[in-house]
Amino acid sequence: MWKAVLEAKRVGARAFGMFLRSQRSWNSKSLDDEAAEKFQSTCQECGFESCYILPHSPYLMNLGSPKEDVFLKSRAMLVEELGRCKQLGLTLYNIHPGSRVGAISVTECIKRIADGINYAHSQVPDVTVVLENMSCQGSTIGGHFEELREIIDHITDKSRIGVCLDTCHAFAAGHNLADEAGVKLMIDTFSKIVGISYLKAVHLNDSKVVCLPGDGVPCEQFFLYLPIVNAVLVRDSPMYRRDSEIPGQNTDPAFWGQHTAGYTVF
Ligand SMILES: [Zn+2]
Repeated sequence: MWKAVLEAKRVGARAFGMFLRSQRSWNSKSLDDEAAEKFQSTCQECGFESCYILPHSPYLMNLGSPKEDVFLKSRAMLVEELGRCKQLGLTLYNIHPGSRVGAISVTECIKRIADGINYAHSQVPDVTVVLENMSCQGSTIGGHFEELREIIDHITDKSRIGVCLDTCHAFAAGHNLADEAGVKLMIDTFSKIVGISYLKAVHLNDSKVVCLPGDGVPCEQFFLYLPIVNAVLVRDSPMYRRDSEIPGQNTDPAFWGQHTAGYTVF
């Protein structure tokens, strides 16, 4: 796990994301103290503060599931993952809010998600749960900023809840990020509905899907506007960007210094 820190350092990143366990199974070996200490000391040596590292939940997790067993397994997984964050000295944890799988209402699903987070908060102190905005596909919750707001409304300890804005998902959800005015509109809308104080991270993710309303815009054009997102969001929020989606796998640190403040090691 500590190698992810070195890799982020190597490419000149100032922020990075990572998974804390295998994606394929509900069960996972517990993290031994030695590995956790090595991770923490490497972060310190490389100069990464915890607010610039954003671990991502396994895709199996669904706190909004209408099936009781899946909900309980997801909730237990969240508790375990927050415990891992504590062990690793990490303070933020990114989740996909959840999916109602077409079986329950949006309101019911949101309530389940919030219940799961409140429970995990009660079991593990300090770590902030960061909700990722989704792309409005199928039954997933979190494509509309209103849904993120509603989850936050149900969270008891509001100092431990936040949002990570994923640009690819926002783009797919209809925010025209290929246009400067569209970027500004998205930020204004987010500020109005969710509140900018809840923004803990931005995942500068490109989109290969042409899914804008109207004619759509090729992804190359979208890329040109990513620096605008940087410019608009000059705040304390870390910026992340996914390496696997960069054309030509650009690992030149100068490129990163110029264009983003972040790098994701997935
Ligand atoms: Zn994600």
